[in-house]
This record gives sequence, C-alpha cells and structure tokens, in this order.
Amino acid sequence: MFPNMLLTVIEIKELLMFLFLLTLFIYVLAASSITTLHKAYLSLHSVAMLWPLSQYFFSISPDGTFKWLWINIAFSSIFLLGFVWFIFALVLTRQTHLLKGRNLLLISTPVVFIIIFISTNPYHHLFAQPVNGSWKHPAFGFSFWIFFLITVTYVFFATLIILRELRLRAQKHYKKQIQLLLWGPSSTVILGAVDALTNILINPSSGVSTGWVSLGIVISATCFVIAITKYDLIKIVHIAQREVIDNMTGGVIVLDTQDVIIDINKSATIFLSPFIEVKAGQNLYDVFHALSNFVEDIELFNLFLEKYSSRSSKPLQIFQREIGLKQLCLSINISPLIDNKGYLLGRVVALNDITDLKKLISEVNHKNEQLEIMSITDQLTGLYNRTYIMRHLVKEIERAISLKSPVSLILFDLDHFKSVNDKHGHLTGDKVLQKTTDIIKLNLRPSDVPARYGGEEFIIFAPKTDLNTAQALAEKLRSAVEDNIIKTASGHIKVTISLGVTSINYGLPPGNKPAKILDRLLLEADSAMYRAKSKGRNCIESTLLDPLEYESPAEQDPV
Ligand code: GH3
Ligand code: MG
Ligand code: MG
Repeated sequence: MFPNMLLTVIEIKELLMFLFLLTLFIYVLAASSITTLHKAYLSLHSVAMLWPLSQYFFSISPDGTFKWLWINIAFSSIFLLGFVWFIFALVLTRQTHLLKGRNLLLISTPVVFIIIFISTNPYHHLFAQPVNGSWKHPAFGFSFWIFFLITVTYVFFATLIILRELRLRAQKHYKKQIQLLLWGPSSTVILGAVDALTNILINPSSGVSTGWVSLGIVISATCFVIAITKYDLIKIVHIAQREVIDNMTGGVIVLDTQDVIIDINKSATIFLSPFIEVKAGQNLYDVFHALSNFVEDIELFNLFLEKYSSRSSKPLQIFQREIGLKQLCLSINISPLIDNKGYLLGRVVALNDITDLKKLISEVNHKNEQLEIMSITDQLTGLYNRTYIMRHLVKEIERAISLKSPVSLILFDLDHFKSVNDKHGHLTGDKVLQKTTDIIKLNLRPSDVPARYGGEEFIIFAPKTDLNTAQALAEKLRSAVEDNIIKTASGHIKVTISLGVTSINYGLPPGNKPAKILDRLLLEADSAMYRAKSKGRNCIESTLLDPLEYESPAEQDPV
C-alpha cells in the first residue's frame, strides 16, 4: 500500500506544491492589510504558483490543445517571474518612483513581448516541438534562450538592487529579512539550472518538467513567508511608520556611521529638490557641498561645512545649524543613533523649513525696532524725547567720568513763541518748531546729541567739548536760527532762540554720581538760559562749572 501512495504523491507532486503555495498565499492575504509591498509580494507569489499548477494540468491533460495551453501558461509564468521579482525588489527598496511612465514601459516591454509571442504561437519550437499535431518533444530553440536571457537579466538586476540595499542598511533585523529574500530566489535559480541541465542538456527526452523549478519556487516562497512573519517584512506598523515618516512635514535623512545616506523621506527630497537631487548612497558631506552653489552667504556656509566636518570626529555630538538657501532657510539637526550597548549605528538628520519663521522673526524684530525708535523719539521734531535723553545723558556723563573728558550742555528756548502761536495758529507754530529743529540738526556735529526737553525748549549734549567750543557752537546755532526764514501758509516767519551753556572743562573726577552731575549741569544751563532771556533774548549766556563744585550747591558737603 505504501509504495502505491508514494506513487500517487509523485504523480500529483506539482498539485501538492501548488496547494502548498496557495495556502501560503491565503495566509499572507488574511494576515496582513494590503499595501504596495503586499501587492508586489502577492503578484510574485501568484505568478510563482502558476508554474507548478500549469505543470500539473499539463501532465494530466490529454495530448492536444489543452496540453499546449498549460505548457504555454507554465513558460509564460516562469518568464514573468523574473520581471515580477524585479518589480518586487524595487518596491522593497522603496524605489517605486522608478516604476513610472517611460521607465515602466521600458522595464515591462520585454516580458509583454515574451507573453504575446508565446500565446500567439501555439505550435512553436520555444520549449516544445509538435509531433504529428501532438505537443510531444521538448525543444529549446533560439527564442527560448533569448527569453531565458531576458529573465536572467531581470533576476540579475533585482539581485543587484537587493544586494545594494543589504550594503546600505545598517539595521541587523532588516538585513536578515533581505538575506532571506536573496536565498529564496537563488534557490529557484539554482534548481532551475538543475532542471535545465537534466531536462535540456542531459536528457532532452525526459519531459518538459522534472519538478526542480517547482521545488525552487516552493523554497523561495517559504523564505518569503519566513521573512514576512518572523522578520515583519510587511507588518502594518512598520509600513505605518514608513508612511508617517514619508508624510511628515519635516525632512528626515538616515545616515550610516560613514555619513552615507541610507534613507531619505519625501519632505527631505522635496526640500532639497530645487537645488540638488539627493538619493540613498550619497555622502551627506557631498550633499552639503553641492548645496554651496545655492547658499546666500557663502562665508557663513563654509563655516557651517567646517563645523560639520569637525563634528565627524565627535560621533555622539548633536549638530544644530541653519542654512540659508535661495528663498529657503533650513534648520538642520543631526543626532546620533545609538544602540542599547552604546554603539553608534548611524545618525538621523532632521530638516525643517524655517523660512516663514525667520521672516516672522525679522518682521517682529523690525516692528520692535520701530516701536523702540518711536518710544525714544519726539513725534513732531524727530529728535530724542525727554525720557530718552535723561537716561542717555546719565550714561554719557558716566563715560565722561571714566574718560576724564570735558562736557558741555546747551539749553535753548524759542523767543516769544507764544506770540507765534497766537498770531499764526498752533499748526503754523508746529511747523516753526519743526523747521527750527531742522536747522539746528544741520549745524550740529555728529557727536552732539539733541533732544526736545519740553514745549519749545531743547537740549544739546556736547561730549568732549569745553566751554569755548560749546560757546562757539551755541553762537553758530543762534545765528543759524536767526537767519532762517520759515515759509508757512501765513507768510514768512523768523524766530530767535536764547541759549544757556554750561561746561566742565577739566573732566569729572571719578566717584561722583552721574545723575547728580547731570542735575547740576541742567540747573546751571537753565539759569544761564534765563539770564539770556532777561538780557533781551537772541543771545547766549554761559556758566563754567568748577570741577570741584559739580554737585548742586545745596548737596555739597560742608567744608
Ligand atoms: P519766551 O521768550 O519768554 O520764551 O516767551 P514764550 O512766549 O516763548 O514763552 P512761553 O513759555 O510763555 O510760551 C511757550 C509757548 O510755546 C506756550 C505753548 O503754547 C507753546 N508751545 C509749547 N509746545 C508747543 C508745541 O508743540 N506746538 C506749538 N505750536 N506750540 C507749543
Ligand atoms: Mg519761549
Ligand atoms: Mg518755554
């Protein structure tokens, strides 16, 4: 009984293998949700199942049309297998972008041609030779070897793609998956060669199939299923992670320990695409180098490159920088990837488009600057306002103390300004104020600091200026204002000013409070100005402060 059973098993071996493959197929289909990689795998598996299936039906079909049909299906599937394996390799290594338009046409044309050729030439000498209308002899003619060569080419390139992936990826887990995927198809190729040897070269009359190819396909599929189940090849979480990484707005680039790119997400590709094409396999340093043609500030960028290359010697350091490309500002953050034993596996580069943020920051800064300027400026005259000048003068006097340099202060007030307002109106009065301060500005030295002290009273701080120089300056201002004719809607107006000058000629001895010195200077300048008013206006009065009497008289220590 046993030999009989064995015989039956041998007879239907191809069918059993087909059923085994079908079971695996249904298992994979049921266990996982469908993605591109699933689809690629299922196509591969389906095509692989066709060979043993059609071999089986071929063997049980009587001579005639059906036998031809099954043998044609069998050989179409085996030639198709190389193509599908190539597609699978591209999908697995995430190079589906190569499967578009002209590329896809170029890749699929040979296999489409093979299938059309086989199916439209039923009685051919491809792999069988008709004898008296029957299929009979296996015959492997010229076309068969061409097709064989095409299939070998597909398998060769698929293997190259996968080997490259194996070299680029650092993760052990992933490497194991890929190795399994290489072992599978290799077994099909090896057993296919055995099949070809026995069938075509050694014993051409043995029949079309000896079962070796089917066995190879079964081994191959088993390897795939192990890769899928044990190493989570198409586990949804991994695919979801991939999806998340690809759909992130931030760019992500994964580097190996040598800074070679092993993975790059869509955003990173998009960020860099206006400048350079970045692909896995490139060194990040070369990528940065290529970007140098597009940076806005090349000196800054060279500094960036220098910092980046020096960082390579410190593998566990985080590298954070920004690069300003044309119309794009990218923030770059490179962090080490370390395993649980502390070994460096590679690095992750996070790229973020901070162009808008930068723009916003510069707008806010600009607004802040404007606000600051507004807060220290008098709206009508454009001079510093009183709040600012008082703060500023304390610092100026502090500086004068440390430099031991002379200082002068000029206070001036418009003469009979009330009558200008009364006669010409407030608006004209404003214009007179503006024009008068304009003429003052024109006659000041760059180091002089003018400010509106109040109403129609102004102050000028003259650093490193002794009394004589300050008096000359005051006189220059007085005569400039006197000579200035202000054209207004209500006619030409001339005004004069009365000035009070106060100076400390020999520098301020250290140890005195700047605020108190300022008070004293203001007090003296004010009384000098009122002296000028009482002397008839349009003139200058001055006071030279004794360096030992810089504080206000009331606050002097009794001697
Ligand atoms: P004096 O020669 O003694 O300084 O006479 P004066 O009329 O200038 O003196 P007073 O201080 O009495 O008058 C100052 C006038 O300046 C009063 C005020 O209405 C006017 N004034 C103060 N600030 C402004 C301003 O911003 N615009 C205008 N149009 N007038 C102002
Ligand atoms: Mg006045
Ligand atoms: Mg006044």
